[in-house]
Parts: sequence; C-alpha cells; structure tokens
Amino acid sequence: MDFRTLDGVDVAGQRVLVRVDFNVPMAGGAVTDDTRLEAALPTIRRLREGGAKTILLSHFDRPKGKRVPSMSLKPVVAPLEKLLGAPVAFAEDCVGETAEKAVAAMKDGDVLLLQNLRFHAGEEANDPPFASELAANGDLYVDDAFSAAHRAHASTEGLAHLLPAYAGEQMRRELTALDAALGDPKRPVLGIVGGSKVSTKLDLLHNLILKLDRLAIGGGMANTFLFAQGWEVANSYCEKDLADTARGVMAFAEKRGCELLLPIDIVVAEQPHPGAAARTRELGQLDEHERILDAGPKTVAKLCEAMDASATLIWNGPLGVFEVPPFDAGTMAAARHAAERVKAGKLVAVAGGGDTVAALNAAHVAGDLTFVSTAGGAFLEWMEGKTLPGVEALRRR
Ligand code: ADP
Ligand code: MG
Repeated sequence: MDFRTLDGVDVAGQRVLVRVDFNVPMAGGAVTDDTRLEAALPTIRRLREGGAKTILLSHFDRPKGKRVPSMSLKPVVAPLEKLLGAPVAFAEDCVGETAEKAVAAMKDGDVLLLQNLRFHAGEEANDPPFASELAANGDLYVDDAFSAAHRAHASTEGLAHLLPAYAGEQMRRELTALDAALGDPKRPVLGIVGGSKVSTKLDLLHNLILKLDRLAIGGGMANTFLFAQGWEVANSYCEKDLADTARGVMAFAEKRGCELLLPIDIVVAEQPHPGAAARTRELGQLDEHERILDAGPKTVAKLCEAMDASATLIWNGPLGVFEVPPFDAGTMAAARHAAERVKAGKLVAVAGGGDTVAALNAAHVAGDLTFVSTAGGAFLEWMEGKTLPGVEALRRR
C-alpha cells in the first residue's frame, strides 16, 4: 500500500491538523474506555518531539450539525492529558474566531483539541467552505482515524485535498495489518465469517470468496446455509428467505475455487439462557423447540486444522451466541487456537467487528493476534472490498 506518511517530513513550527477518533464510550460526562485516546498517542508524541503544533480534530456522537452540550469533547481533555503526560488546551469551536485564537496562542510542541466537528453540518456534508475554514488553521493534515475513513466528510476527505496530507501512526498500523491480511497476504488464506445475519454480510462474503483460499461460515448465518442445503434447523435463527442467496454464494465459491467450510456438527438448546443445558448433535438432529446456538466440537476441530494449514487468517463474527455461556465455547476455542498459532509464528491473524472484538477480549487473546481492528464500519467496508475515501485521499499520486 502506497500512502504518504510523516517519515522524513520536517514538522518543526508547523500547525498540524490531526484527525483522530475520540468518539469514545462516555457515561455521566466521563470517558469509560480510553483505548481510542491511547491509539492517538504515537502520532501526538511524534509531532510534539518534532516541534509541531498539534491540533486535534474529532467527531463525537451524532449532534447532526447542532451544538449539543452533552456531546462536547471537553471530557476527553483530562484523560488525554494524563495519558500524554502533558497539557492539552481546548477550544469551544473547531472553526471561526474561537479556534483561530486558540491556535494563535500555541507554542511549538503544544497540543490543542478543538470542539466536536459535527456541531457544524458542513462536516458530514463535506462542505467545501467548511473544509476551507478548518484548513485555515493548519499547514499540514494528518489522518489518524481509520475508523472514520469510510466516510467522505470534511475532516476525513475534504481536508486532504486542501493541505499536504499524511497517514498518522495508527492509520499506518491499521493499513499495514489490513494489507497483510487481504492486500498481499501469505497464502493459503483462511477466512472465518460468523455473526447473526447473512443479509448484512453478503458483500463481504462475495469479496472474501474472490480473495481467499478457504472460507468458514459460522454463527447464525451458517444456519441459513445449512437450511439451504436441506438440513432441519427447527427453531434456530435462520433467514429462510435467503436460501437461494446462500445457494448462490455456495455456487460462486465453487466457481472461484474457494473452499467453503460449513458446520459439521452443532450445539443446541431450547433457549440461549446462561448455563442452559447445551447438547451436541449431528447436523439436522434437533427437536422442534431447539435451536442451534454454537458450533460443535468436530466443527471447531476442523476449523483449527484449517488454521494449521493456513498462513493467514481474517476473522469477522463469532461462531455462536458467545455472550451467553456455555454457547461461547466454540468461539473461545477457535480464538485460543488462532492466538497459539500466531504466538508460534505460524499464522498472521487479523480480526475485527464490534462483537468479534468483544469475543476476543472475553477469550483474553485480543493482544495475541497479529492485529485486532476496533474500526467497526470502516473495517467491514474494507472487508467488502470497498474503497475508503479517507484512505484513498492519502495515497501517493
Ligand atoms: P460483529 O459485530 O463482530 O461484526 P455480528 O454483529 O455480525 O458480529 O454478530 C454477532 C452476533 O451474532 C452476536 O450477538 C451473537 O450472539 C450472534 N450469533 C452468533 N451465533 C448465533 C446463532 N447460532 N444464533 C443466533 N445468533 C447468533
Ligand atoms: Mg455486531
């Protein structure tokens, strides 16, 4: 991937506008998870050491172009100062006189956070006059928010055309990891797609079939495939109206030479209740009140063998209802196996997706995989093979 980075760029004395993603979880006006603040530190530190004036831009929540006091970015300042070990100034507006004055007061090495970009409708509209107003406060632009790169907004796309634009450190890490999984991966490449719905992941399945050697389908969406093959699914979650679509996906995989791995046994119960009696069954062997809630042990073993035979793994979506033990067993076992292969230097494993990240955290293996993307929508669009406007804008031309 050929994109511009800060390597070799002299930032001393420059006003650098850095797009970060500080859309952090908050409760009662306090930040409850500082993962995203932490992610921004390498770029901020690098710019400070280089003697730049670092001006941070972010959105928070969905104020829809209005100044909504409960959606202020101010509560981010104190935890960021603590992580950075340096003061962070704050301006109550991201453009106009307020922002201009705050920037003018900066000395080299200072850090300033500007108020929520989405207090202005021009941000999400990618309105050129708004982008110009933002650009007026900077000499350079750095995008460090991969998680916002699927949106063509003023701060993720517009600015890149107005100022010299570079990928930040976190953006670089994310793009490098994603490229190692789907761009130019070591083969064979195995994909695991789970989760609940086929309907939301059709584009993703098609793109993966084009790129992968093997694709395992798990979770609720596997039920739709089993149903399409004629298996009884009883009371399971299943998109029966998508049976033809599922058959189309199977035919497409066959045509493209991508081996599909579907469940070969199942774990069932009447309800996904914590501690419910889970029964392991052969395919199709379930009573009318039962539903499929996890992958069976033979399926998991086959998946682990497929990992052993692969050099690269890309994973989105849990294999079962992992939120409710014991139906987390399949996902946990597969996650631990992937982590062991990575630790042994045998596998490059990249995973992402909101629930997938939660599952990997629950298995305590998120830190052991090669890369776990917390980017949500941007990660999924990238898996779908879509071009992300925020990333395109950073490409070397
Ligand atoms: P991600 O957020 O990582 O992209 P998804 O949102 O697609 O993942 O899927 C996660 C959801 O899929 C979880 O809430 C999980 O309970 C559900 N799920 C997994 N397996 C099953 C199943 N057999 N039946 C019903 N729901 C399932
Ligand atoms: Mg989800």
